[in-house]
Amino acid sequence: MNWSVTLPILSVLLVLLGAAVALRVRSGVLWPWSKPRPFRSARVEEFADKLQKAIIFLAGEGENLWAAAMICPCGCGEVIELNLLRQARPCWSAVEHPDRTVTLTPSVWRQKGCRSHFIVRHREIVWC
Ligand SMILES: [Zn+2]
Repeated sequence: MNWSVTLPILSVLLVLLGAAVALRVRSGVLWPWSKPRPFRSARVEEFADKLQKAIIFLAGEGENLWAAAMICPCGCGEVIELNLLRQARPCWSAVEHPDRTVTLTPSVWRQKGCRSHFIVRHREIVWC
């Protein structure tokens, strides 16, 4: 093996790896709790088996929304489903904003698992 060629290539690879790690840290992938991640909303006909993080899925037609689903923002990975139909209890209301974000009222308080308690307001998760 020719080390005079291999070593510079290795060092370049190490620098690239370092830059990739730094970017991941900056974008909050390694430490998601250090910076609030923007939450978006997405309309679906029905919820997929595997949801994406940081997206609040809204199921419904036009103005009539019947359910919302999201991955718990605490990082536990659990799926949270919320009823949006007024005929059933408990019931949340979801207001969609033009910037494809959503505000949910009242707050979400998980009674099992991580017991997270938070408010979804536009693109932010506000912890209670
Ligand atoms: Zn959680």
